[in-house]
Amino acid sequence: MLKLWNWYRQKSFMVKITSGFIFGLICGLLFGPSNQVVAPLGTLFLNLLKMIVVPLILLTLIISVNHSNPKDLGRIGGKIFPYYILTTAVAVVTGICIAKLMVPGKGLSLPTSSNFEVPEKTSLVDSLTNMVPSNIFQAFANGDILAVVFVAVIVGFAISFMRHSHEVKMQEMGDLLLKISEAGSEVTFRILNGILQYAPIGVFGITASTIGNQGMDTLLALSDFVITSYVGVLFQMLVIFPIILKAFKVPVIPFIKNTKEAIMTAFVTCSSLGTLPVTLKAAEKAGISDRVANFTLPIGATVNMNGSAIRFGVGVIFASEIAGIDLSLSALFGVVIAGTLAAIGTAGVPGAGLIGMSIVFTQAGLPIEIIGLTAGINVIVDMIFTCCNVTGDIVGAKIVDQSEKKHADYYAEESNSAISQ
Ligand code: ASP
Repeated sequence: MLKLWNWYRQKSFMVKITSGFIFGLICGLLFGPSNQVVAPLGTLFLNLLKMIVVPLILLTLIISVNHSNPKDLGRIGGKIFPYYILTTAVAVVTGICIAKLMVPGKGLSLPTSSNFEVPEKTSLVDSLTNMVPSNIFQAFANGDILAVVFVAVIVGFAISFMRHSHEVKMQEMGDLLLKISEAGSEVTFRILNGILQYAPIGVFGITASTIGNQGMDTLLALSDFVITSYVGVLFQMLVIFPIILKAFKVPVIPFIKNTKEAIMTAFVTCSSLGTLPVTLKAAEKAGISDRVANFTLPIGATVNMNGSAIRFGVGVIFASEIAGIDLSLSALFGVVIAGTLAAIGTAGVPGAGLIGMSIVFTQAGLPIEIIGLTAGINVIVDMIFTCCNVTGDIVGAKIVDQSEKKHADYYAEESNSAISQ
């Protein structure tokens, strides 16, 4: 038994998770809905990831705030947010253009009735005000990530001020709190390593039950929509992201090799937030400094959704073809704005993009029922959209890290020449 465990532990994560996925896929196709029996294996995996994500964000952000100064954090934020907004807008445009070329709605008709309930939508203003929680514990219990980010940053700053206080007692308390946070973070990473050993079984459960649940007929009827979504994401991942990486002199192939585990985990969990622990590990492997990764990735997993943005672009064209509504250029411009904002407001959890879709459809005057048409096969497209969401987060962290390193080199050179003068 011990030998088997050691053999299993030594196998690479990628090999294990891919095997879980392929095995799940085969079972899903062979045994159909009876795969529900293995669904709890997947639920257990997602629960484990969700369990670790709040302490992980809290502790890594507290540490990251303490290991950088406010000026650095402001500068990193000033770089990452424009990147998020720009790439998201580009992703909506990509979705629109690819769908215009591939015409995914051809031959489909408007659903007369749909039992799909339009999800409740939150406005951007609500999302921003809810970032400041009225009850810290409730925000933590609800897994309200933006609120957790907010609390972690202010607690981090409070500890930092204590450590730099003139009073020795304050300094001691601040140092102690930072040490406790560092020890706690070590604990969460050890637990995470354990969770990742279970990941392949969880992935098997998720894949077998979700694939088994989707009737082949629905999938075939919407195959054009699925293919267009995949092509849109592949364009963003194989053209747009490599261009960005190249512009910052990041070699693309090694970058993909180092981050593939996070990309694969995103694919099978359909959750950027659930993938976050793996994303942080991948960032370390890709050589991104902790300072940048720990600050940007939790925020990215919450607000940066390039894949979801592609969904909105493709979805709008798909719906306009089905409903026979021709969208003008200015209407499409409105879609890009609404799509970008809706993507920022989309949570990093499975199926969240459907909510954003209703915001964009309302803006474009398209029938909401069409969202119901795609809801049945959502999991198949959610997989690839989430992959793109997570890849976008790591690409952002990497290029900000590159520019931070340049910045550090520049200052090091400046101070060296000042010393030698
Ligand atoms: N599932 C996606 C994510 O977690 C969000 C979406 O549904 O578009 O990143």
